[in-house]
Amino acid sequence: MNVVENLIADRALDDAVRDARSAYVGRNPNSAKQYASASDVMPGGNTRTVLFYEPFPLTIVRGQGCEVFDADGHRYFDFMGEYTAGLAGHSNPVIAEAIKQAVDNGLSLSGHTQVEAEFAAIVAKRFPAMELLRFTNSGTEATLLALTLARIVTGRKKVLAFDGGYHGSVFVFKDAVNQVNVPFDWVFAPYNDATAAAKLVAQHANDLAAVIVEPMQGSGGCIPAEPDFLATLRSETEKAGALLVFDEVMTSRLAPGGLQTRYGIRPDLMTLGKYVAGGMSFGAFGGRGALMQRFDPRRADALGHAGTFNNNVLTMSAGIAAMTKVVTQEALDAVNARGDALRTRLQAMCRDHHAPLCVTGIGSLFTIHGVAGPVRSNADITGQDQRIKELLFFDLLEQGIYLARRGMAALSFEINAAACDAFAAAFDQFLKRRAALFATDATSLRRGARG
Ligand code: PMP
Repeated sequence: MNVVENLIADRALDDAVRDARSAYVGRNPNSAKQYASASDVMPGGNTRTVLFYEPFPLTIVRGQGCEVFDADGHRYFDFMGEYTAGLAGHSNPVIAEAIKQAVDNGLSLSGHTQVEAEFAAIVAKRFPAMELLRFTNSGTEATLLALTLARIVTGRKKVLAFDGGYHGSVFVFKDAVNQVNVPFDWVFAPYNDATAAAKLVAQHANDLAAVIVEPMQGSGGCIPAEPDFLATLRSETEKAGALLVFDEVMTSRLAPGGLQTRYGIRPDLMTLGKYVAGGMSFGAFGGRGALMQRFDPRRADALGHAGTFNNNVLTMSAGIAAMTKVVTQEALDAVNARGDALRTRLQAMCRDHHAPLCVTGIGSLFTIHGVAGPVRSNADITGQDQRIKELLFFDLLEQGIYLARRGMAALSFEINAAACDAFAAAFDQFLKRRAALFATDATSLRRGARG
């Protein structure tokens, strides 16, 4: 393809995105209106950056089973699953009943309660690496407390994190250390590069408090860790006297005891969040007893860890119901098998259509990328043409499939075979409709233009 043909193809892609946006605007007048009024009181009408996309995000008014409904009356199969927190689907009756009983029993009890100890015992049993644990209100706080503990017990300042990693709103590592991050002394390394990580750990050994890593990067694109990468992190942190912290906020649903068990690696500390409290706001951090004991308030050298809502009865009660009656191992096995099957099916379709896309993930979590792959780290996707991702998003929405704008899906227990078939059919339709755009190398032209 010559330069002129390339430019024409590039224009065709721009035109397709413009048309898709304009069709979206036409279909969603009520969401547009709602967004405009929200913008009067919140910057950009938004209080959670990840949910924003151009030209304006949908307003979701209701959820039921595996579906969500928007302000303009459209219904969608909900493949977003609240970025993994919505594992139980919408309004699970067992969780709803536990919340109702907690409300009836009184909120804001101003004291230690039975439910917090019961929930802690359930969580510790499910995740043996958490010999002792503490609750927080979010995964972000769990990261903050785990890393702060690591810095205090080691007496060191530096923390090594990986490109593409996400550990909370102030722990963002996409392409660089984000400017809103907490001002720890960060060391930044490529994901899945055991040699580079070993070198950096050794180089900073004297002042390295911790290495934090997701066993599969979630927000970064559902990129699984390679076994030797995690094994190297385990052995090198041990050598350096630094702590290994696994962020299992998303991945803990992927294997019994957390994804760590599939790799046979035990971290010193780990974090949880998302689905564990059945959809209530939740976070937890924990690990080796000797480390966590520092939070024992009876100790002379005790570390403080307050938080009005750490033990709120809604979260504790919903969590007990969710983890004992809903998030069973059988249910997890089933949803993970369903996700594996759908991911394999979508990947085969990319190959059959010769489309420059691929799908990565494990079990019930996957991401569709705008590159042919393989995808082993953030560097493999930074150049992807966002226009392809945007077309994918709008085309699937138009066909009743709701997934994250970045192409991520998190299946809930409610997602059934019919929903998966609908996803596959919509994806097939997208691949056929946009085949002419894939056949060009306009996307590589745009990548080149971006450098
Ligand atoms: N760690 C990981 C791996 C996450 O995916 C997230 C949330 N996307 C967090 C931490 C932060 O959790 P929260 O949004 O509850 O603060």
